[in-house]
Amino acid sequence: MLFSETDVLEFETKLKKANTITLVSHFNPDGDTIGATSAMYHYLLNVGKNIQVVIPNDFPHFLDFVMKDIPYVIASKQLEEAKRLFTDTDLIICLDFNSPKRVGDMLVDSLLSSSKPKIVIDHHISPEKEFFDIVFSSFSSSSASELIYEVLSLIEKDSFLTKEIAQGIYVGICTDTGSFSFSCNGRRTYEVVADLVENGADVEYVHQEVYNTYSENRLRLLGFCLFERLKVFPEKGAALIYLSKSDLRRFNYQIGDCEGIVNLCLSMEGIEVGALITERADRIRISFRSKYDFDVNEFARQYWNGGGHKKAAGGHSFEKLETVIEKLTQQINGFQKKNNRLGING
Ligand code: 5GP
Ligand code: MN
Repeated sequence: MLFSETDVLEFETKLKKANTITLVSHFNPDGDTIGATSAMYHYLLNVGKNIQVVIPNDFPHFLDFVMKDIPYVIASKQLEEAKRLFTDTDLIICLDFNSPKRVGDMLVDSLLSSSKPKIVIDHHISPEKEFFDIVFSSFSSSSASELIYEVLSLIEKDSFLTKEIAQGIYVGICTDTGSFSFSCNGRRTYEVVADLVENGADVEYVHQEVYNTYSENRLRLLGFCLFERLKVFPEKGAALIYLSKSDLRRFNYQIGDCEGIVNLCLSMEGIEVGALITERADRIRISFRSKYDFDVNEFARQYWNGGGHKKAAGGHSFEKLETVIEKLTQQINGFQKKNNRLGING
C-alpha cells in the first residue's frame, strides 16, 4: 500500500467530521495543482461537502476548462477573503506542494497560523512534514493528481470517478509529465490513466484545450525566444533563454504564455540542461529543465532560492536581469561533461 493505513483512516475520519473544506493550490498554478484541485473539488462535492477553493494567483487561461463551474478565490485579488477561508473552515487540503511557502508570501503566514487540520497531497521530494497533520507524499508518482487517485481509491471501495474527477486527474498527469515524456516510466501511471479514460477523461479534448489554444502573440513570442533570446553552450550541454519585461510587453504577455518555452532548450541534441529567465514585476524567475542525470532541483536549491523536481525546477533572484544572465552563464561555463554527459553538479 502506497500510504499507511493509519493515515488513510485518519484522513477518512477528518473528512467525515468536516462540513466545510478549503482546498489550496500552489503559487503560479500549473496544470497539476489546478487539475488536482478540480478533481478534489468534484469528489468532495459528490460526498456532500461545502468546499472553498483558494488559488494564490491567476492560473493560465488554457486551464479555464478545468475550473469551469468551480467557485474560487484568487488571493492576489481578494487577499482578505482568501485568508478568511483558512480560518472559517474545518479542514485544509494542500495540493501539489511540499512547503507552506509555496502558497506565496502573502498567504503563507495565514496558512501557518490557521489552527485547522492540514492535509497535504504531493509528489515533491523533502516535504516539510512538521507543518501538516497528514502527509500523502510519494516522489515516484507522476503528479499530485495521480496521488489523488491513489488516496481516494484507498478511501472508496467503489469507483469514485465521474467525468469531472477523471478529467481533472488526467490534466494533472498529462501536464506534469510533459504529455507523457518524463516522470512516467512506471506501469501504475498508465493503469490510472486507463481507468480515467474509461470513466470519461477525454484525451483529445484535453490536448486541444491545453496545447492548441495559443494566442497569436504567444506563438510569435516562441519564435522571438528562439531567434533572438536563445544562448547555447554546446560544449557545456546547456542552453538558456531570457526575456525582459519589455520583451513580455511587446508580445502582450498573459499568464501561461511562457509555459513550455524552457523545454525547447532540451530539444537540441547534446543539450541536457535548459533555463528560462524571465523578468517579472518584483523579481527574476528562472525555470530549469534537464534530461538524463543533471539534478535541477539540487541546482535551484543551492544557487537560486528554489527547488522542484530532479528534471523540472524553478527559482528566483532579486538581482537585475543582466546580473542573473551573467551569473547563470558563469555557472554554465563551470559545467564539466564526463563521458559526454553532465553529472549531478554539472
Ligand atoms: P516551473 O519551472 O514550471 O515554474 O516549475 C517547475 C517545477 O519546479 C514545478 O514542480 C514547481 O512546483 C517547482 N518550482 C518552481 N519554482 C519553485 C520555487 O521557487 N521553489 C520550489 N521549491 N519549487 C519550485
Ligand atoms: Mn505537480
